[in-house]
Amino acid sequence: MNVLKTKEDMQAWSLAKKREGKTISFVPTMGYLHAGHVSLLELGRPLSDELVLSIFVNPTQFGPNEDLDAYPVNIENDLKLAEQAGVTAVFLPNKEEMYGENYQTRVALDHLPHHLCGKSRPVHFGGVATVVTKLFNIVMPDVAVFGKKDYQQLRVIRQLTRDLDFNIEIIGGDIVREPDGLAMSSRNAYMTPEQRKSALCLSRSIGLARKAVEAGETSAAALIREMEAHIQSFDHTDIDYIEFCDPVTLDPVETIEDQVVVALAVQVGKSRLIDNALIDPPQ
Ligand code: AMP
Repeated sequence: MNVLKTKEDMQAWSLAKKREGKTISFVPTMGYLHAGHVSLLELGRPLSDELVLSIFVNPTQFGPNEDLDAYPVNIENDLKLAEQAGVTAVFLPNKEEMYGENYQTRVALDHLPHHLCGKSRPVHFGGVATVVTKLFNIVMPDVAVFGKKDYQQLRVIRQLTRDLDFNIEIIGGDIVREPDGLAMSSRNAYMTPEQRKSALCLSRSIGLARKAVEAGETSAAALIREMEAHIQSFDHTDIDYIEFCDPVTLDPVETIEDQVVVALAVQVGKSRLIDNALIDPPQ
């Protein structure tokens, strides 16, 4: 497994592989890998000859009062997991390498970032779109794999890939959960045991909404009220948003007539947790 720390080395590696006729799958991450990240590597592995993992805690996607400085790091363990998952190259740049002196350019989308997480994280998706555009140009993959855990991010990536004419197939990997239902996240590491128990409110409230929709409830407002009440019954929880949206545009939906995505963000102690699911109304 090659570990490449400069853009130049990464690009040279990818170009050499392409010249040999090899294809490349790519999984971008911020490191502190868990089984969710590994599942994306396993999805990407059989799709191409080579498998590239990037580890970069991207400063431009964090707001001024967010957890950039506290973001957990364990490169040694990440490299071990990467090797086990069949990664052939790891791109491990630092901040200066990615955004050198006099960096000026940002990639911005018109609509998708104004929904859901974008409302309370106004710089986030611009930062994500910018770094992923740069990573696509550096790694030059044929296939890139992203998790459905970050549903809005996956929509942003699909849109920018289309809009900016990247010849890259985007694959979405299912959410990997702990046995009790909590979606795996590097940020779960910040929680105390008590907060960890409260964190179950996200997946459980999605379960309640799914049941209610299956039983015929069509009002998003009523579903949101039920989810809010459930989440507020747990300690240490502070709801950022709960929304039912169109799965493609992410526009809010008031009456559930077709498939919707329910998405929510809840602050649990120091961890801002997100979760989502697609829900179909009964036939
Ligand atoms: P991150 O390191 O948190 O930026 O995530 C890197 C990639 O892993 C993103 O595409 C995430 O959507 C994906 N990911 C994070 N957590 C999970 C999970 N529990 N299941 C599936 N994919 C995930």
